[in-house]
Amino acid sequence: MRSGNGRTGGVVDDGNSGRTGHTDRAARRDEAVRAAVEQGLLGPELPIAALLDVTGIRESAAELRAAFEAVTAPGTPVLHAFAVKATPLVPVLRLLREEGLGAEVASPGELALARAAGLPPDRTVLDSPAKTPAELLEALALGIAVNVDNPQELDRVDALMASATSRSPVGIRVNPQVGAGSIEALSTATATSKFGVALRDDGAREWVVRSCLDRPWLTRLHAHTGSQGVPLSLMAEGVAETYALAEEINRRAGERRIDTIDIGGGLPVNFTSDEVTPTYAQYARVLREAVPGLLDGRYGLVTEFGRSLLAKHGTVVARVEYAKSAGGRPVAVTHAGVQVATRTVYAPGAWPLRIAAYDGKGRPKSGPEVVQDVAGPACFAGDLLATGRALPLLEQGDYAAALDTGAYYFAHHYAYNSLARPGIYGFAPDGGGGVAFATVREPQTVREIVAESGGAHATALTALRNTPTD
Ligand SMILES: *Cc1c(COP(=O)(O)O)cnc(C)c1O
Repeated sequence: MRSGNGRTGGVVDDGNSGRTGHTDRAARRDEAVRAAVEQGLLGPELPIAALLDVTGIRESAAELRAAFEAVTAPGTPVLHAFAVKATPLVPVLRLLREEGLGAEVASPGELALARAAGLPPDRTVLDSPAKTPAELLEALALGIAVNVDNPQELDRVDALMASATSRSPVGIRVNPQVGAGSIEALSTATATSKFGVALRDDGAREWVVRSCLDRPWLTRLHAHTGSQGVPLSLMAEGVAETYALAEEINRRAGERRIDTIDIGGGLPVNFTSDEVTPTYAQYARVLREAVPGLLDGRYGLVTEFGRSLLAKHGTVVARVEYAKSAGGRPVAVTHAGVQVATRTVYAPGAWPLRIAAYDGKGRPKSGPEVVQDVAGPACFAGDLLATGRALPLLEQGDYAAALDTGAYYFAHHYAYNSLARPGIYGFAPDGGGGVAFATVREPQTVREIVAESGGAHATALTALRNTPTD
């Protein structure tokens, strides 16, 4: 798929600042929206599509690698395991694999996606608070890294390790209990978080130390304390606590028993502009300040970033089906709502999204800003992408784009009103001044919706009532 659009300008990026490439990114997005309309990925019969900026994803992966290379001693093994949860799409995992990243998985489905993308076991990490015996067995048989969540899970792993040998590095997930960020539902390091071993609870820290001293194969510690809303300093505090625990274990073991620390992910994302802030480089510097020993080459590192790698590279574009007015407020009824922006619709205060307005040809809309609502297609009043937002007036046949939706949005479909999963397309320059698209995920068909909704079992319930008894 090609288009003849010339690329519009861009800013030379210094590869270093928080403003890296942000003007370029916006220009690429505008071109992609126009090309998607021109090339028929969007239109009256295809009123919603999601776009992924391949150039931007590669840039973020490179920034992540460079940030940790800049602060770690030469030769330090570092695995950046992308949190598959954030964007569970096989072509995305494959792209990141090519960029040198691995995968952090937390369910049989996510592990299958990582394997389908060709991620090797030594670049895969399994976390999850609810691993079944079968999942543990599979992970240990494959040799992928496993982070044990709790004492009951360690019992299971003990039994499996006693009956077979495994190449899997095994760690324990700890919760340093350093406190919450601004979004309670996403704060993993509170006193009562459901994840990992709560280090400050009575006897817990000593249990972790003893567990490691007793098992030569327990060689890692894992903590994932960041997330949207958590400041860098608090994230670093969680990492520092984990590092201190590793040092204690190694001191008491008299050897380097813990050889790798998995610092988790959770770098917050700026949803208010195209600027990337905070950057990986800033976080890496905060870590160097707070925990220099972690980076001096004695420990291997694993990271598990998700949202920060993908969020800014995704855009969901939806056609304005109707433009109406209610109570004096203009309302654009679009095809993007709760099915692609679930968090924003149900928790608009915590998850506001930027909206960009495009005309019917996919060109950025200009004109005076008008305060309006941008609504989705679902049949409940709260299905709104944005309320009271000042934008050029959206009219019938225009497009509204929800920005920064590359993670935890359109790849996390919510099947309200049996709305179809939109197609997802990656885009990149086509080499001839235009935009090339590649299908990442086909749009879901109505036939698939019926099949996934028990279509093959249409008479299951009526037949059950009529089953004769004897
Ligand atoms: C969700 C999660 C991540 C990724 O978090 P982001 O906020 O998307 O970076 C990493 N590790 C674990 C264990 C997680 O649960």
